[in-house]
Amino acid sequence: MRYLITGAASGIGRAVATQAVRRATGDHPVSLALIDRDQEALGALTEELAGSGVTILPLVVDLEDPVAPAGSVRSAIEAFGGLDAIISNAGVLLGGPLEDIELDAYEKTFAINTRVTWLLGKAAFPALKESRGSIVATASISATHPTPPAGLYSPSKAALVMLIKQMALEWGKYGIRANCVSPGPTDTSLTRNSFGAGVSSASEQNRAYREALIPLRKIGRPDDVADAVLFLAGPQASQITGVDLPVDGGVSLSVMPL
Ligand code: NAD
Repeated sequence: MRYLITGAASGIGRAVATQAVRRATGDHPVSLALIDRDQEALGALTEELAGSGVTILPLVVDLEDPVAPAGSVRSAIEAFGGLDAIISNAGVLLGGPLEDIELDAYEKTFAINTRVTWLLGKAAFPALKESRGSIVATASISATHPTPPAGLYSPSKAALVMLIKQMALEWGKYGIRANCVSPGPTDTSLTRNSFGAGVSSASEQNRAYREALIPLRKIGRPDDVADAVLFLAGPQASQITGVDLPVDGGVSLSVMPL
């Protein structure tokens, strides 16, 4: 499988990349184009994966630049001769009350959380048509459940889910599948300050409070989401398109904790 993964240097994207490497075999080789704006973290990941036998193409890119998604797709296709899966995972959470958000934060939120997936899909369309490939986007349970500190994050993820469904509808006839995963609270740098990571007793209390609201009583791990992403991206999901799969410990099931 030839993957392009955005937001690959941290959290869920990093877990997808490392799991894809672990699953590579002689019969099923893997190539990874790893896209992130964080040069240092991407360099560290590339070093960690070096020697695995997997072809790695690290690309330091700021996806907010409207020409960057197509440029990344072009580089990956040049390097690998095609693409089988786009994992559009990079996202930003610029929270705050709606009345205080500046226009710049609106533009940034929708550019990264929504527009990038369309631009990646548009650029990769001919290659995905040829490979009968797939797109998996990381949305969020915030796409269907407005969440207090998330400001424009929830609307941007809701638009992303509908974009993926539109892609699934329009591109199904070309054999291209498009799906989302919607993580619930997951332990990554995006959420670490609010969930706590042993940093302080206050954040530990906050973590315990949040875990009590989740039916499975645990905050998710990046690997939990990566498993779902790789399933939807690969041949085992060959008849699945247009779904938004929650990976959330059941937190989106009810407004009332049990
Ligand atoms: P993370 O902060 O650990 O990773 C995000 C990565 O995206 C970072 O490496 C960052 O450098 C990269 N990135 C951000 N903006 C970029 C840009 N403009 N150009 C290039 N790279 C950029 O966060 P994560 O939790 O792993 O987030 C991954 C996805 O999961 C996001 O789309 C997020 O909205 C979604 N998500 C996360 C949670 C959670 O609880 N962690 C819940 C629901 C959805």
